[in-house]
Amino acid sequence: MSENFSDFLYTCDSDIVCHKMLLALTHGKDLAEAARSVMEGLDGAFSVTGITGDGDFFAFKDSHGIKPLCAGHDPEGKTFAFSSETVSLDINSFVRDFELNPGELVTVSKEGFKRIQIIQNPKPAFCAFEYAYFARPDSIFNDKFVYEIREEFGRTIVRENPEIIKDGDIIMSVPETGDDPAMGVHEESGLRWERASRRHRYVTERAFILLNAERCSTIDRKINILGSKVKDKRVIITEDSVVRGDTTKVIIEKMRKSGAKKVYLFVTFPRIIGPCFYGIDMSTYGQLVGSRHNPEEIAKIIDADKVCYQSIEGLIRATGQTEDQLCLACVTGKYPTPCAQKMADAMKKRFQEGYEEKSRIYESEEAQP
Ligand code: SF4
Repeated sequence: MSENFSDFLYTCDSDIVCHKMLLALTHGKDLAEAARSVMEGLDGAFSVTGITGDGDFFAFKDSHGIKPLCAGHDPEGKTFAFSSETVSLDINSFVRDFELNPGELVTVSKEGFKRIQIIQNPKPAFCAFEYAYFARPDSIFNDKFVYEIREEFGRTIVRENPEIIKDGDIIMSVPETGDDPAMGVHEESGLRWERASRRHRYVTERAFILLNAERCSTIDRKINILGSKVKDKRVIITEDSVVRGDTTKVIIEKMRKSGAKKVYLFVTFPRIIGPCFYGIDMSTYGQLVGSRHNPEEIAKIIDADKVCYQSIEGLIRATGQTEDQLCLACVTGKYPTPCAQKMADAMKKRFQEGYEEKSRIYESEEAQP
């Protein structure tokens, strides 16, 4: 980009997408060819929406379709919209039309949407973490509400861990992404779902993206444990995922202080063992408790009696997708794009050799494959 644009200043990834398109357009290519140059030239996840200088409204997805992007229109058929989740179409009273396919470009004219398959997808790889954590529960993927899939995660994990169910008195969730799986656990096991953890309505920071100390204090303020409800109880907590482990530790600490007799953890997203290069803030091996420790060790670290992850097979089945349709890279180590795989392998080797990761690995020069 610097060779083609003398004033090119790298500020964010969208900058590269825009310049790549601009390069094609200024060389006389049309919008479809410009979108192709991005799809073929960049390794990563992108769901792009834009308007050209001529006023053409368009959207396209990377060739693996890693992140969601859907299209809809208003009831009069005069206004068209793209959104990462169907819920924003709902709240604007728009009609949902379709989810973009991997490698697809969609343009909008007065007549409506025009769909052009730019690249026949080599292998779709929709982010499995969307189902467990990122997406809103009232969004729809593949004709199913996300919350229904999360409930199924809860049912699956019960079937996978009958001995823990026998030893539990109540279920409790880490609100709010643990709520839907808790419903599934309750339905499948018959155990009471005690609403003994409450979320502070006005503490809205996402703990996931904060720095360590901040993250723990946010969780402390955000989640209140109703001590008398867990006292002397064997509690099964449902949680969407364990990334660093520190926030779950704070919650379990509170439960122990309240007198919980046993604390089991049901985690719906399988153990995260590798970083994500597709936009999720899990960027080094060192920060992931699951890349350094097995479930027994993790239980010790966070002071749980046992940590039970949903199996990868169980997760796939519950989504209604097949393994070939999902990105599961952070739990399997198999990345859908070649550059990410190369970078992950190189960084894993260095990590195992004791190399200290100083920053997000794709930002560190030494990390470039
Ligand atoms: S690596 Fe994990 S978080 Fe990243 S896109 Fe794939 S499944 Fe989603």
